[in-house]
Order: sequence, then C-alpha cells, then structure tokens
Amino acid sequence: MALTLKGKVALVTGSTSGIGYGIARALAAEGAAIMLNGFGDAAEIEKIRSGLAQEFSVKVDYDGADLSKPDQVAAIVQKTHDRLGSLDILVNNAGIQFVAPVEEFPEAKWEAILAINLSAVFYGMKAAIPGMKAKKWGRIINIASAHGLVASPHKVAYVAAKHGVVGATKVAGVELANDGITVNAICPGWVLTPLVEKQLEDRAKEAGTDVEAEKKKMLQESQPMLKFTTPAEIGALAVFLCSDGAATITGAPISIDGGWVAH
Ligand code: NAD
Repeated sequence: MALTLKGKVALVTGSTSGIGYGIARALAAEGAAIMLNGFGDAAEIEKIRSGLAQEFSVKVDYDGADLSKPDQVAAIVQKTHDRLGSLDILVNNAGIQFVAPVEEFPEAKWEAILAINLSAVFYGMKAAIPGMKAKKWGRIINIASAHGLVASPHKVAYVAAKHGVVGATKVAGVELANDGITVNAICPGWVLTPLVEKQLEDRAKEAGTDVEAEKKKMLQESQPMLKFTTPAEIGALAVFLCSDGAATITGAPISIDGGWVAH
C-alpha cells in the first residue's frame, strides 16, 4: 500500500485516548510522523508512543501541553516544528464534557470547556497557519461533534463550544482557500471512548440501570444507526481529508454520526 502521508508531520491534540489516539494511529499507518499530546499515566503514554513508532516505523514524539493554556498551545506547535521538522497536519481534538442544566452549570466548567474545546482550536490554528502558508500545504482538522450542528439538553458549554468550532472552521477555510491549506470539522455522533463511558456510568447510576442498558438507550435517543462509530473510522476519515482527493473540501462540517443530524 502506498504510504500517502510519508514525509508529513501531524500534531494530534488529546491523542493519549479515544478518538485522538484513533486518528494518530491512522495517520501513522499512512507514514506521517506524529506529535502526541494529552494527559495520563506517563508509563502508559510511553507505551502508546513507542508502540506506534515501532508498528509503523515513523517518528512519534509526545508533549504534555495543557491545552487550556494559550501559551502552551502555541508552544506545542513550536515544539512540533523543532523536534519533528515541520507541522503539516494539525488535528485539534482535545476535549472535555460536563453535563448539567443551564441554571446549575458550574461557571468553572463553562470556562474550562470553552478554553479546551473552543479556544485551543483558535490558538492552535493561529500558531500553525504561518508554517503551513510558507509550505503552501496544510491540513487542519477540527474535531467538532454532532453537537456542533444540533443541541441536546444539559450540554450548554459543550454545544456552544462545538458550534463555535464549526464557525471557526468555516472562517479559516474561507481565509485559506487559495493557500493550499484545507480546514474542516469532523462531527462525530456517539463514539465509545472514556468521555462517553463516564456519561454512561453516570446515567446508569441515576436511572438505576447498567451501562449496557444505557448504551442501547443512548443510541436509540439520537442515532438512527444503532451502533457506535469507532475511533478507527474517524481516523480513516481524517486520512481521507489529508489526501489529494480531498484537496477542495474546505470549511466543511463533515458528519460521521450514524444519521444523527439527518434525523
Ligand atoms: P477522551 O476523553 O477519550 O479523550 C480526550 C483526550 O483529550 C485525552 O487524550 C485527554 O488527555 C485530552 N485532554 C483533555 N483535556 C486536555 C487538556 N487540557 N490539554 C491536553 N489534552 C487534554 O475523549 P474522546 O471521546 O476521544 O474525545 C475526543 C474529541 O472528540 C473531543 O473533542 C470530543 O468532544 C469529540 N467528540 C467525541 C464524541 C464521542 O462520542 N466520544 C463525539 C463527538 C465529538
């Protein structure tokens, strides 16, 4: 198989887990060098880093930047250039969730979700664009959500941030339309990751059921297709968006949601 991303360098934020790891893996499998980022146990992260490097014979580095801090977002972009020689593909994926009605929503959670899920996308793009412009090639993929397009109750900060990500993606896509850089938003429905597992556990506790029962209910509530999208499927979509075939897709929110927003 041709390694379509050989020679490219990708920074995937929040890639120690879930969707970000799935995307990092898919890009590495196509030959891209990877800068990993995210929180977690140091030994586990090193296992992920060395595992990807060995399996796909690519350079894989890690930086633990806290994406809620604008200076650390800019710093990880610079470190990717310094350590891996370039930054061709930026995947703004790191994200958190918190669930409560608007009138009870803790202000600190609102601030944290806006900082990580939305502002980090802006700061990441701002830092990465000059280098991409200089090379006249770049791919920016912002991980939004079905909640970037429609609402659900109790997710005011998350839905606001993800709608913001879709808006920022459109603006950057339009601005960079003739610079060889595409900017798109992937909008997943339910993907079974730690972020969703936590919601399933909370729902089961509240309803006096179990996680398996809540999985079924969760899908039935919103997804015509009654199965979870996998991180590997999101990774495959990211690889496509980096390919030559996707050269004129830009500013687009792309759903991968089992029919959620079509419904
Ligand atoms: P996850 O909890 O498995 O992974 C989140 C990653 O972000 C982890 O690596 C974590 O360490 C990292 N992270 C969190 N806060 C950070 C910070 N301040 N700085 C740096 N890294 C930080 O969650 P996931 O489900 O894989 O979510 C990834 C993205 O996909 C998020 O933006 C989420 O909103 C989005 N998304 C998820 C789903 C889903 O169903 N799981 C659906 C739509 C969109």
